[in-house]
Amino acid sequence: MTDGDAARVPGVLLLVEDDPDHAFLVRRGLVDHGGLGLVVVHLSTASDATERVAQGDVRCVLLDLSLPDASGMEALHALRAADASVPIVVLTGLDSNAMGIQALQVGAQDYLVKGQHAPDAVARAVLFAMERAQRQEAERRQAQLGSTLQLREVQLSEAQRLARLGSWEWDVLTGEVLWSDELQRLTGLSDVSGVEAFDRYLALVAEEDRGEAGALFSIEAAEDSPVVVRHRLVLRSGSTRWIQGHMTAAGWDEDGNPVRVLGTMQDITEQKSTEDLLAHQALHDTLTGLVNREVLLDRLARVLAAPREDRSLVAVVFLDVDRFKWVNDSRSHATGDRLLVGVARALERALRPTDTLARFGGDEFVVLCERVRDEEDVLDIVARLATVIEEPVAVEGDHDDDLAGVTVTASMGVATARPGDPVDPEELVRDADIAMYRAKERGRARFEVFDEGMRERATARLRIQSELNAALQTDVLKVHFQPVVHPGTGIVLGSEALVRWHHPERGVLAPEEFIPHAEETGLIVPLGAAVLRTACQVTAQWNAARLEPLNVAVNLSARQLADPQLTQVVGEALGASGLPSHLLCLEVTETVVMEDADASSRVLEQLRSLGVSVAIDDFGTGYSSLAYLLSLPVDLLKVDRSFVAAVDDGGPGEAIVTAVLALARTLGLGVIAEGVETLAQREALARLGLRHAQGWLWGRAVEPHAADWAWTTGPAGGVPPLLVDLPSSRPPWPDEGTPVRNGRRGERR
Ligand code: C2E
Ligand code: MG
Ligand code: MG
Repeated sequence: MTDGDAARVPGVLLLVEDDPDHAFLVRRGLVDHGGLGLVVVHLSTASDATERVAQGDVRCVLLDLSLPDASGMEALHALRAADASVPIVVLTGLDSNAMGIQALQVGAQDYLVKGQHAPDAVARAVLFAMERAQRQEAERRQAQLGSTLQLREVQLSEAQRLARLGSWEWDVLTGEVLWSDELQRLTGLSDVSGVEAFDRYLALVAEEDRGEAGALFSIEAAEDSPVVVRHRLVLRSGSTRWIQGHMTAAGWDEDGNPVRVLGTMQDITEQKSTEDLLAHQALHDTLTGLVNREVLLDRLARVLAAPREDRSLVAVVFLDVDRFKWVNDSRSHATGDRLLVGVARALERALRPTDTLARFGGDEFVVLCERVRDEEDVLDIVARLATVIEEPVAVEGDHDDDLAGVTVTASMGVATARPGDPVDPEELVRDADIAMYRAKERGRARFEVFDEGMRERATARLRIQSELNAALQTDVLKVHFQPVVHPGTGIVLGSEALVRWHHPERGVLAPEEFIPHAEETGLIVPLGAAVLRTACQVTAQWNAARLEPLNVAVNLSARQLADPQLTQVVGEALGASGLPSHLLCLEVTETVVMEDADASSRVLEQLRSLGVSVAIDDFGTGYSSLAYLLSLPVDLLKVDRSFVAAVDDGGPGEAIVTAVLALARTLGLGVIAEGVETLAQREALARLGLRHAQGWLWGRAVEPHAADWAWTTGPAGGVPPLLVDLPSSRPPWPDEGTPVRNGRRGERR
């Protein structure tokens, strides 16, 4: 039903009366008044009446208070509950004025006492009741509307408070200014009215921002609105807040002049500090708080761009913490972080306020020194940096003793330029980096000054690294094998696997030319694993056709030894080839092992638990503590070829080899001599009782297909295997009868 239909349909006057006579009297009284334009519906119970009212078309109820199914007041309550907007006129019995009054209190519009009212009183009462009810309904609606508006205002003010956003409105013609509650709260200004409010506001704006903020209240500016001005407000409390002011014209006269202006002022102090923090983070390293690469390069560019009268220099020092990776890996990353913070603080102590210290990431720091008089000055700075960095790292508030007593050294590279010279800042930093790299190569804990030759070498290095990466994907890295023999008989006992790079342009490259680069880039890990697999595979193939199996030695580098996967890689190489583990020997140099003797010890122990043996390569060249070295879990010493070279004709090498043999005998270790080139050396070694040797005298390292010494059935029995120097059919050598050390050699048998 539409509203229009509702208007045309006559309403219902509901007469609720169980007494038919009285009902008749009432109806007759109404008829005299044309029924008031209402349809009279007569019901005689309270429940029927309640149901009818609920239908929504009843305009008024005439209610008898003595109904059969409800007490008078119950009926009244029920009808009001069905629709409280329907007026009710109560009909009470004789002498029941009290009841009528009670009915009024409960919500009836009027009451009539049966038999005591004039015939037309019913019609009048109904009319008045309807009118009054209508008025009351209108008032109620009005009140409701009012409170809704009030509620909206409260909500708006609350929203402004939460957003810390105050608003204002300016009627340009009357000069009236409305200032929201929140704006009053924000500014601490109350009783603001008229345009003097603007002056009072501007008086609070920080002096530096006042000129610009004035635009927020300017009619001229309003013509090009919106206007947005960020400014600071200094409050009476003394605190400063950042405000974003926004103003826009919202009404114009016929000539297009603004006549109504709206504005907001938002407190953005918190947002501003977040923005400032983000800006800081974009330029700083979060761990150390130092500036980052971008900032340093920017400063360097500016310094280089400005020629100086005094012809002073600008110096860049590239600094890399030595063995940081080792601290990071062997302790914890948190410890590594603390170490870096300690280093940063130490370096700061050594610098002048005009110097810039940046962290370039990882363990790399770069110092930019302006106005350096001469090279001497640069060396002073570098010396100062080296001194502070070598002091024990004590990080403030550090209760962990992880770093107690830890000292570090750094490798540094220096590059200098003269402001005004056409130098690219990035290039200058790269030069310092190249020089730093040279310092690392030359043994760390030192510095180098950049020269042109370094750049050439660095370029060559980069080239070789990328080529090496490509080489790993193809099969140009080949494993060659050099025989290990019994020097007395020349019988081949095994071989050492040595990698070669069959370079398409430069021919066959020796390991020295690429292993250090592979080590540096980490490519040694996949490369080393490939060598291991091939060495095991090839040796297993040879052995399949032999009576006496050959063993094979494979070199391991520092990176490989530090690789947590190493034991697994070795196990897999053995498993895939079927080579028995006791035929594999892994060689590590003493320098590599001693880098972190404890960690190495653990790894070597793990490897030996697979059944493989371990040799110390180039023994005697590492200047390590002999006692410490020999306490490591190893099986063999490989006497370096420099000693072997000095063995001829009873040279000084002979005494050394004799001493090594004696040492090995006591400790139960095997000994191999490497680099045997002459018959004289062979004679001397055989005389000394050495039973394993390798060298060009017997053959260089060759590819498997060229290793004719391996593709034979080999001698049947009697040939001493690599590790176990047992008497054979030959007369015993002087070093035989080696005692068993820690039962290890016995176990392996
Ligand atoms: P190394 O393990 O001490 O290997 C012995 C080196 O001496 C080999 O050089 C070998 O060719 C050379 N040599 C053998 N007999 C003689 C001789 O009679 N006279 C002279 N003057 N030299 C002889 P190479 O193959 O150039 O290897 C050099 C080093 O490169 C090796 O020293 C080893 O430390 C490393 N290397 C070789 N292959 C690998 C590999 O696959 N992985 C790793 N990590 N390092 C390897
Ligand atoms: Mg070796
Ligand atoms: Mg060697």
